Order: sequence, then C-alpha cells, then structure tokens
Amino acid sequence: MSDTLPPCPQCGSEYTYEMGELIVCPECAHEWSPSEAAEAADAALIRDVNGNVLADGDDVVIAKDLKVKGAGGGTIKVGTKVKGIRLISDGVGDHDIDATVEGFGRMQLKSSVVKKA
Ligand SMILES: [Zn+2]
Repeated sequence: MSDTLPPCPQCGSEYTYEMGELIVCPECAHEWSPSEAAEAADAALIRDVNGNVLADGDDVVIAKDLKVKGAGGGTIKVGTKVKGIRLISDGVGDHDIDATVEGFGRMQLKSSVVKKA
C-alpha cells in the first residue's frame, strides 16, 4: 500500500485521509472504500475468453465459429484474426467490441468469443 492516497472521486480534492477501511474527503465529506473502488474498476474491464484484459487496438483471434446474421450471412471461422479492435460500451446486447472482420466487414463482437492474439 502506498502512502499516497487517491484524490476524492467526487470533487477531486487531494486532502483525503484514511479513516479505518475508508478514505474520507474533508472538502465534500465523501467517504469511500478504496478496495471496493478497485473492484468496481476491475469489473468494468473487458476481458477475452481466457480472462485477459483487452484494450483498444488489440489484435484478437475468434475463439469459436460465429454465425453472422443479416446481409450475406456466413460463418466466421474459429481462428480468424481480427486486427485493431475497439472497445465499446454501447454495443447491441452484450456486444462490447467493434471490429472489422476480413471478408465480413465491420461488426460488433462479444469479448467472450475472442482471445487476445
Ligand atoms: Zn471530495
């Protein structure tokens, strides 16, 4: 544990202090638990099928055959490389990746069906 406390997430004050398990902000009276904040940040990360954290611009490989609905249709085969993914938070359903798949064009993918290349 470092000696430097994080600034208040509410008002940005640097004059936070520890009080037991909590960090307290003297300026806006906000109290929070640093371990819970870390867990929330961790839960927000997008991970591949193996649990590796994905980032914008990563290259991934399709981990299972994917049926493509709509125009053209077809199946994206397992092992297909997808370059330069973009993480999205407003995808359809639980789709959280926006990417261009060669031969299929731009589409949304689920992080649960890809693995980091
Ligand atoms: Zn504050």
